[in-house]
Amino acid sequence: MTQLSEDCFAHDGALMPLDEALALVKRRVSPVSGVETIPLVSAFGRILASDLTASTDVPPHANSAVDGYAVYYDDLSTGPQTVLPLGGLIAAGRPFLRPAQRGQALRVLTGAMMPAGGPDTVFMQEDCTVDGEKSVSFPGGIERGANLRLPGEDIVAGDTVLSGGRKLRAADLALVAAVGCAELEVRARLRVALFSTGDEVQEPGTALAPGQIYDSNRVALQVLLTSLGCTVSDLGILGDDLEVTAQMIAKAARTHDLLISSGGVSVGDEDHVRDAVGGQGRIDIWRLAIKPGRPLILGTVKTDSFSVPYLGLPGNPAAVIVTFLKFARPLILQLAGASEPPPRLYPVKAGFSQRKKKRRREYVRCVLVRDSNEGFVAKKAGRQGAGILSAVSAADGLVELPEDMEYLKPGSTVEFMPFNEVE
Ligand code: AMP
Ligand code: MG
Repeated sequence: MTQLSEDCFAHDGALMPLDEALALVKRRVSPVSGVETIPLVSAFGRILASDLTASTDVPPHANSAVDGYAVYYDDLSTGPQTVLPLGGLIAAGRPFLRPAQRGQALRVLTGAMMPAGGPDTVFMQEDCTVDGEKSVSFPGGIERGANLRLPGEDIVAGDTVLSGGRKLRAADLALVAAVGCAELEVRARLRVALFSTGDEVQEPGTALAPGQIYDSNRVALQVLLTSLGCTVSDLGILGDDLEVTAQMIAKAARTHDLLISSGGVSVGDEDHVRDAVGGQGRIDIWRLAIKPGRPLILGTVKTDSFSVPYLGLPGNPAAVIVTFLKFARPLILQLAGASEPPPRLYPVKAGFSQRKKKRRREYVRCVLVRDSNEGFVAKKAGRQGAGILSAVSAADGLVELPEDMEYLKPGSTVEFMPFNEVE
């Protein structure tokens, strides 16, 4: 269970710059403590619990990188060709038991273990001419050690092959298998409770009464959380009721590592999440200096024995996606014990102009198009309101307009974060 001090996100209440909020999370949030041992095939996307050290060399023995003929380099003449008698065949997994002899070539297949003290150079078969079954003619000009893979040339026993905190990818699991491990110790999945708020918010698939809208936030959050490796408890939709919200939060806090909701965190009369959290813990970050996504709370909810982080995202659907990717995602990775670098930002040219407020970072939903100079130009993917989902869906990613900018000139360079690197 996550152990947080009550004041771990403490802040004076003004609009907080995103970088400051993220730095606070980095300093104050410690990972969930649980670990589990699982088979490699189940470990894709999981977080490695601690450094993994190789107990064997990869490859474990010298072997041929090609199908061809192995020779002692010193048996080759300096002229344009050398003819050597054939002394046998070595296939992968079938080591040559006799000692190799000087003055002979060996037929070798890819992956074949080279005899100890044996040939040190391998010709590709395409470069050789075989004379019956008896001898082979080699061209001049090969380098000593050609086409030979040395023991440990990939990994040396004792090397740290993967660092703790790594979010495991397919090639990582291949690496772990290559050093002979069948299982890995990974961090326990983060248990996240998720709900939507709002009297007007209804389940898709039902009929809407006047004044109602469908819940679009919950499905997006559910899949984003799942793709980050969380186990999600779907607590449905809560009406705008302080008592009911407070009870649900108290109950969920007992069995989850993180509580997330959308809506109800602004300053309207029916925004009860802030009071529901504040009444049984504390609110620390409330309102980020970003657009979209200003109303957002991060706090902690106290149970009898520990505190659980609470993240209240905005209600507006575009703001939900932006605040999730820019704030919730790093928070969740940190809680999950991942040491992922921040998402890469790519410099692109702005294909639009924009006026903006100072001291606020803005995220513009954009598509990328190639310009005539082989670079990329970011164009607005549609209307940019916090409630406009279609532009988020149409966009390739977010253009980031920094706090100190007041006017963006078309053609200037801006930073772009592609959705497909963070979803
Ligand atoms: P709120 O912060 O609760 O006032 O919500 C801000 C806006 O987002 C309102 O127009 C809500 O109707 C809308 N909204 C809140 N929750 C959701 C949801 N789960 N799905 C779609 N829209 C929502
Ligand atoms: Mg609401």
